[in-house]
Amino acid sequence: MKIGRDAKIDRQRVAAARKAIGEDVDLFVDANGAYSRKQALAQARALEEFNVSWFEEPVSSDDLEGLRLVRDRAPTGMDIAAGEYGYDIDYFRRMLDAGAVDVLQADATRCCGFTGFLQAATLCDAHPVPLSSHCAPALHVHIGCAAAAMRHAEYFHDHVRIERMPFDGVAEPVAGGLRPALDQPGLGLTLKRANAQKLAI
Ligand SMILES: [Mg+2]
Repeated sequence: MKIGRDAKIDRQRVAAARKAIGEDVDLFVDANGAYSRKQALAQARALEEFNVSWFEEPVSSDDLEGLRLVRDRAPTGMDIAAGEYGYDIDYFRRMLDAGAVDVLQADATRCCGFTGFLQAATLCDAHPVPLSSHCAPALHVHIGCAAAAMRHAEYFHDHVRIERMPFDGVAEPVAGGLRPALDQPGLGLTLKRANAQKLAI
């Protein structure tokens, strides 16, 4: 869930989410870089009470020292993640060399496609740090199967809704998991030309 607008209200929202989903479901939060370093540290400590296991972009992804600071001081069960804005291998290398994240994120639609995604995965293997894909689960379900460091694929309902507008064959999650359609060629996607035409710019 997104946080970052108002720290106090965000804690109330996270508390409500935890109450709704129970204790046996992982709860991830994403601040999209909205907090200062001190705010992020305070929020990390406050969210421990609700067993938040993932704190994405607690500070700006450009603040590698700040990410490292939060990573080092966050509760032990809370992973710090970033990387969704990475466009090339140097971006990921700098982030990993800085020790800025517990889990690196990469997005094949931004980081030079599958080639860039696999480069990020190789860097993850070398450090070693797990990899999580950002958005576009219809693409990452396939390439994720080829990346040893892959830990999970981000799955947002609004993104999937968009994927289904121009494509048939978008994978359906089953029990929290996505699997490629092995009876289909390539990515298993078929372009719905008439629908895609409506999205043309
Ligand atoms: Mg994010």
